[in-house]
Amino acid sequence: MSDVIHLLPDSVANQIAAGEVIQRPASVLKELVENSIDAGATFIQIQIKDAGRTLIQVVDNGKGMSETDARMAFERHATSKISSADDLFSLKTMGFRGEALASIAAVAQVELRTRRADDELGIFVEIAGTRIFKQEMVQCNIGTSFQVKNLFFNVPARRRFLKSDNVEKSHIFTEFYRITLVNPSVAFSFFDGDDEIFQLPVSNVRLRIENVFGKNSKKKWQQQLLTIETSTNLVNIYGFVGKPEFAQKSAIQYFFVNGRYMRHPYFHKAVLLAYNQMIQATESPNYFIYFDIDPQTIDVNIHPTKTEIKFENEQAIWSILSSSIKEALGKFNIVPSIDFDQEGALDLRSNLTNPENIRPPQTNFNPEYNPFGTSNYKRPVLDWEDLYGGFERKGKNSPLYPVDSSDVVLPSSISIETESTQQLIDNIETNSANFQYKNRFIITSIKSGLLMIDQHRAHLRILFDTFLNQIEQRKALSQQILFPELLELTVDDNLVFEQMLVDLHNVGFDFEKNENYNYYVKGIPDMLGPVSVIELLLNMLDKAKTTADDFINNLHNIIALSLAETSSVKVGQRLTSEEMNDIIDRLFACANYNSTPDGKKIMNIFSSEEIDRLFSK
Ligand code: ADP
Ligand code: MG
Repeated sequence: MSDVIHLLPDSVANQIAAGEVIQRPASVLKELVENSIDAGATFIQIQIKDAGRTLIQVVDNGKGMSETDARMAFERHATSKISSADDLFSLKTMGFRGEALASIAAVAQVELRTRRADDELGIFVEIAGTRIFKQEMVQCNIGTSFQVKNLFFNVPARRRFLKSDNVEKSHIFTEFYRITLVNPSVAFSFFDGDDEIFQLPVSNVRLRIENVFGKNSKKKWQQQLLTIETSTNLVNIYGFVGKPEFAQKSAIQYFFVNGRYMRHPYFHKAVLLAYNQMIQATESPNYFIYFDIDPQTIDVNIHPTKTEIKFENEQAIWSILSSSIKEALGKFNIVPSIDFDQEGALDLRSNLTNPENIRPPQTNFNPEYNPFGTSNYKRPVLDWEDLYGGFERKGKNSPLYPVDSSDVVLPSSISIETESTQQLIDNIETNSANFQYKNRFIITSIKSGLLMIDQHRAHLRILFDTFLNQIEQRKALSQQILFPELLELTVDDNLVFEQMLVDLHNVGFDFEKNENYNYYVKGIPDMLGPVSVIELLLNMLDKAKTTADDFINNLHNIIALSLAETSSVKVGQRLTSEEMNDIIDRLFACANYNSTPDGKKIMNIFSSEEIDRLFSK
């Protein structure tokens, strides 16, 4: 029998390799832009079309390539960046595997134009599916330009595997952020089609963060970023952490090491612990933290797409990172007393080349400020009618109805009265007095005992049902606002926001799109309580983003819940007995009056028997 083993042709081998390196348009962008940075570019212009499916173009003013190099660059394992395995441990470049261009050329149509500063003419190379179609001298600018067209033109299976444009774009932005945030000394410009959506001048890190993420009113970067800076002979750590009150569910969090983005769950934990008690468990702080460290002491992941990096001295760095953040928070007068990790503290201090950096904060602690709870915080008392703006009563003791209720279809649930609902309503003793307990509970006497209702939760249920119904019936009323407020979004937030627009419109919002992903909020739901509209919208966006993949299906709920949360009666608010009656009446008109939309218990009945038992002796 003849031999059966043979070497795969290059085109096939490259395509297989490409499967690892090039998964989607974002991977092409990452590889090309990293190459430009490695080539010493100070200006990089990116253009994508159709979320990178038809075109990804990267133009740089870097050092360019010679004629031979331009051809060699597309060979597998062709790199100018390392020449021996030892070099792997002192990497100063982003790339080193020499696989990217070979992989891209295996699965796309690529045009390269490149010229070095000393050369009169540049080189043009056209290559597709690993086959060279053209190579010639051309006139072109100094630097390099890559055009990658029709990605996966020859691999239909992978093409089909790509997600919607919005998803692919958001992957692209993710890569773009990871590179731009750690290269503030490089100017970037980013075109989506013909729209320039990022223009990032050369700047410092702080300005770069602002330029990338916009001056979003919630995230107000200028106000929220606290500087951290620590130099030790082990590692230098610098960057910014967000003030606790800017923490959010989908926080913006970046670690970089030696100019490269990394994921590091262990250090991430160190950051979270430094904020211990200052933020809610469901929220997380924004941070941008940069490590400079001897490359010999880290292990850059050899896998092309993995971003985890191992550190030799993880525990020591943990302590340094932790104190550094606590110090920043302490300066900001949040931590009453700094608590250095006792364990790490000893060698940490001896490690510090500049112990000045970690002196404890001045303790002019502001006693008014209580980051740990809301007990000191008095909510402004809202006028009841304000709170119910857009509602009216149809008689002295009637529930509140939305104004112009002929237009508004009441929740269909109003007619669903299960036996127990009916029983319970019958059960409420007519004209029985209500009593408010601790400004939180409504207590009323019913035939079978005492009914205790959580006022906030009850109202949340009532408003949730109403808003949800409005969204679904598209019958909400809008109220124009006199001075439209500006909602500024980041590019990726905008992708999510666009998906919410129709529903927001149905519930009474009115937007006018401004350039650059900004919207003027011109109208708001008529029933909305007095709240900061922008904050409300950003909160909704946060929720939508953190509600897993399936958020479209939950969008109605998210919107209705956010609106209900902002407009509902709060714990601590005094209610008149009329208001308590309204809540009781309307609560029992809801199909599910037992629990809030997020599953919390609304009421409890203390039965007459129970009460009798208590007093039996
Ligand atoms: P790696 O980046 O791992 O070396 P690549 O396949 O990405 O491998 O690139 C191969 C080589 O092509 C690089 O080592 C570099 O010499 C050259 N090259 C790629 N892009 C550029 C660019 N924009 N400017 C100058 N040289 C480049
Ligand atoms: Mg590379």
